[in-house]
Amino acid sequence: MNHIVIFGECMIELVTQSAHQLAKSFAGDTFNTAVYLKRCAPGLQVHYLTAIGSDAQSDELYHLMQQEKLGVDMVHRSANRHLGLYMVHTDNTGERSFTYWRSESAATQTLYSVDGELPDTDLFYLSGISVAILDDTQRHMLVDKLTALRQRGCKIVFDLNYRPALWKSPDHARQWADRFYAMADIALSGVDDHAQLYAHQSVSEIVTHLSRFSIEEQIIKNGASEVVVNTQSDSWSVPVEPVETVIDTTAAGDAFNAGYLAARGKGADPVSAAKYAAKVAAFVIGYPGAITPPEKALPRL
Ligand code: ADP
Repeated sequence: MNHIVIFGECMIELVTQSAHQLAKSFAGDTFNTAVYLKRCAPGLQVHYLTAIGSDAQSDELYHLMQQEKLGVDMVHRSANRHLGLYMVHTDNTGERSFTYWRSESAATQTLYSVDGELPDTDLFYLSGISVAILDDTQRHMLVDKLTALRQRGCKIVFDLNYRPALWKSPDHARQWADRFYAMADIALSGVDDHAQLYAHQSVSEIVTHLSRFSIEEQIIKNGASEVVVNTQSDSWSVPVEPVETVIDTTAAGDAFNAGYLAARGKGADPVSAAKYAAKVAAFVIGYPGAITPPEKALPRL
């Protein structure tokens, strides 16, 4: 595995500093994974598939992607749409809340900009959020394109990442999630997401659900408790070393996914890859925000 396409949306992130001050950065679940994957395994070619605007903010993001050494050949530039945006507010008990402006973003139209088939790649990574921001027409287009890619040997990686606000109903979300699980070769599923979307109460209920599909590798993330790794023939519970001082859990799952794919890409078996992934996630939750400062080296692979 050498060439990976990661599909989704990166937004402007504004974090309230004080009544009149905001700190700006760029983040989004799949973008976070792309950045961490490239940082963990610089030898891999990581391409980001999305649409952004043609305005100054979009230029800044484009340059950031280049700085992070992501392939930008699949970044489409819209003439009339812009980046989505979200604001993070922390109340005086430390509880964070998020407000989003993303429904009109350029990324919501990405599939309309993709002409013909997607180019061949070893791995195609997407999340439930990548799917949620699209309309149904584009979701069908995506299914067709991924089916074709898969027939040409590409593996599909899917993280459920359920965000209720992006779906018209839980039923609708479940239908599409199952459609993408049915295409996935690797699933990187969070226990909380499954509890919210499917009302699964335990890891074994998640495993039962996933067994309806033919997913070769099922990785079930359960916070600080454990990671369950299931292959067609075996099942393991990988312990997670709890982090004592958690600064910000934003992007823990995204960073985990990056660590997992980086390790698998370098030939590690699924259990060793999950152990490394947990180290990467533990590192990331020791810093505020989604993306750690570039000068802080991630755990070595
Ligand atoms: P998500 O962010 O997708 O909901 P989790 O909350 O399960 O997923 O977190 C993803 C990964 O981050 C976990 O599998 C674990 O490796 C790591 N992680 C999360 N919380 C902690 C913690 N308190 N201590 C150590 N590792 C953690």
